[in-house]
Amino acid sequence: MAEYHTFSTEDAMRFADEHSGLFGDHSKLSCEEFGDGNLNLVFRVSNDKGTSLIVKQALPYARCVGESWPLTIDRARIEAQVLLKHRKLCPEHTVEVLHYDAEQAAILMEDLKHYRILRTELISGKQFAHLAPQMASYLANTLFYTSDFALTGPNKKQQVGKFLNPELCLITEDLFFTDPYCNHERNNIHAEIRQQAQQLWHDEALQAEVAQLKADFLSKPQALLHGDVHSGSIFINEENCKVIDAEFGFYGPIGFDVGSLIGNLLLNYLGHFGLTQDTDARQQHQDYLVSQVQSLWQEFSAQFTQLMRSECHEPALQNSLYQQRFMQQLWADTLGYAGCELIRRTVGLAHVADLDKISNSTVRGQCEAKALQLGRDLIMQRHSLANMAQLMQLLHSLSER
Ligand code: ADP
Ligand code: MG
Repeated sequence: MAEYHTFSTEDAMRFADEHSGLFGDHSKLSCEEFGDGNLNLVFRVSNDKGTSLIVKQALPYARCVGESWPLTIDRARIEAQVLLKHRKLCPEHTVEVLHYDAEQAAILMEDLKHYRILRTELISGKQFAHLAPQMASYLANTLFYTSDFALTGPNKKQQVGKFLNPELCLITEDLFFTDPYCNHERNNIHAEIRQQAQQLWHDEALQAEVAQLKADFLSKPQALLHGDVHSGSIFINEENCKVIDAEFGFYGPIGFDVGSLIGNLLLNYLGHFGLTQDTDARQQHQDYLVSQVQSLWQEFSAQFTQLMRSECHEPALQNSLYQQRFMQQLWADTLGYAGCELIRRTVGLAHVADLDKISNSTVRGQCEAKALQLGRDLIMQRHSLANMAQLMQLLHSLSER
């Protein structure tokens, strides 16, 4: 087999042609590289009849930084295998992988050209009632069926080993849980909130809670996570949504995936204080986001609970009091990781357009300060916020501060 080399558009076309029967003998192919992501090459290969596929290739370094940040190309294996596994468990909402080549660290997958990236849509104020129920179903199915509730002990351990992903986990461990809480050179802090960011570096009570969340991230292999469920990893249209980009997947705490998504919905909520001037339109969109956060948790927890009751194969874990406690802890984890996402997206290396796109820098600073405040509240109060209604109260009190 040929040694790894970075694909040209010609290589990507050949790869797509070789591994799919979709193009046929006589079709003329064209190809463009259009990845706007941070790490990899993404090509669209099309024929003259309108059929197209995506080729994604891992580079031996992080694309956004360059060759000075080497990164394992084994992440393409993780991405392909997580997506294949998740697709078996939730075919409706996982992108289809057609072929994976280990040597070239390349994945051939379905082209979601009739979908748009969720983050862009939410920033422009678009609303989709199906977002929360569909993502709840994706999270409940992928997380439950890869957990100890569904797998035997030996099988689970084999799976944990297959998905260790140490290099990409280290990125999360640093960017989520360490950098924002110290004066790290990788941080990206706008001048308007420098003072609030500095408070994080001296906030020992907060740092203790973040240490707990990080320790769990390091040592709680509950289920096969997607590992990066932000609104740039979700494609959506009027009927459906599909998840892509699972290269950060590993066996970790379930609340991390659920919390990442809730954190991103909250970032959009806060961003609209600056993105939308018309107060009625803003209120309407924020109400929509609140209802999505509510229904995401309600439907996720209802489905997960139902699965624990009906599909748990491990006798000891069938105990209903244990299952209740499990859901309570999962709720607290979810809030904590959502809080971490708010903070790291505000002062860490990787920002989100929901805040960065606010053109007035004073207003942007006010929104970012709210994100830090809400992030802290979620982390600190994750055990005392008893339910979604109390979370909503927190959100409303924030708007008035
Ligand atoms: P990275 O891992 O480098 O961040 P992503 O998987 O997020 O890369 O992909 C980067 C971009 O490529 C996406 O934002 C999207 O525009 C495009 N893309 C990726 N996968 C697909 C797909 N299956 N269909 C259509 N576009 C895609
Ligand atoms: Mg990625």
